[in-house]
Amino acid sequence: MQESPLVNLLSIPENIKKIIYTACRTCYSADYPINIWDKDVDDEKILKLIDKVLSSGHYSTVEHCQIVFSVSGVSRACTHQIVRHRHMSFSQKSQRYVTEKGQFEYIVPPTVKDTEMEKEFVQFMGQISEFYGKMIEKGIPAEDARYVLPNAATSSMVVSLNLRELIHLANLRICTKAQKEIRTTVKQMCELVTEKEPWLSKYLVPKCKKLGYCDEFSSCGYMPTK
Ligand SMILES: Cc1cc2nc3c(=O)[nH]c(=O)nc-3n(C[C@H](O)[C@H](O)[C@H](O)COP(=O)(O)OP(=O)(O)OC[C@H]3O[C@@H](n4cnc5c(N)ncnc54)[C@H](O)[C@@H]3O)c2cc1C
Repeated sequence: MQESPLVNLLSIPENIKKIIYTACRTCYSADYPINIWDKDVDDEKILKLIDKVLSSGHYSTVEHCQIVFSVSGVSRACTHQIVRHRHMSFSQKSQRYVTEKGQFEYIVPPTVKDTEMEKEFVQFMGQISEFYGKMIEKGIPAEDARYVLPNAATSSMVVSLNLRELIHLANLRICTKAQKEIRTTVKQMCELVTEKEPWLSKYLVPKCKKLGYCDEFSSCGYMPTK
C-alpha cells in the first residue's frame, strides 16, 4: 500500500532566470536577444525585471522554461485531476499494457485511514483484486479487466510543463479547496522547483495570494472572499 506521492524533479533548465530575463528584455530592447543573453547581468537586475513583467501579466515570457517531473504512488483519482490541465504533457503507466499481478497498489484516503472504515476498504480492494485476477485467468485482456479497477489504484506518470503552467497549476491546486492528494503532489512539485530556484516561491502560491482575495464560493479563511 502506497503511503504518499513520490515526486521527483527530472529536469529543469540550469539558466532559467537568464532565459526569462532574455525573453523579457527582448520585448523592450533594440538589441539582439543573443547579445542580451551573452551580457553579464546581476541577479538583482534580472529578478527586478522578471517581477515587473510578471506583475504586468506578461506570462508568455515564462513559457520558455520546460520542467519535467516523475510522479508515482498517486491514485488514478489524483492523476485524473492532473491530466485535466491542458498545457501539460503526460506519459502515464498503461492499464492496457501493464497487467496487475496479485494485489494492485492502492491509496487509502486519509479520511478513511485509521477509521472503522479502513478494514472494510482494504477488504474491498482485495475482492476487486481477486475478481480482476479471475478475469485475467479466464483470458479477458488487461485492457478490459481494468474496468473493475478503482480510482484508488495507484499510477505513475512522467509530467512535463512550462513554468507558466506550473504557476497556474500551483495557483489552482495548492488552494485548500483542491483535494488533499493533488494538493500534496503539486506542493511537492513546487518545493522541488523552489529548492533549485528559491526566487520562484513568490509565484508558486495558491491563487488567493496572487489575487489578494478568495474567488471560491466560500473561503477557507486564509483570505476573505471578494
Ligand atoms: C477545486 C477544484 C474543483 C474542481 N471541480 C471540478 C468539477 O467538479 N468538475 C470538473 O469537470 N472539473 C473540475 N475541476 C477542474 C477544472 O474545471 C479544470 O478543468 C482544471 O482545474 C484545469 O484548469 P484550467 O482549465 O484553468 O487549466 P489548464 O487546462 O491547465 O489551462 C490553463 C489555462 O489556459 C487557458 N485555456 C486552456 N484551454 C483553453 C481553451 N480550450 N480555451 C480557452 N482557454 C483555454 C485557460 O486560461 C486556462 O486557465 C476542478 C478544479 C479545481 C481546482
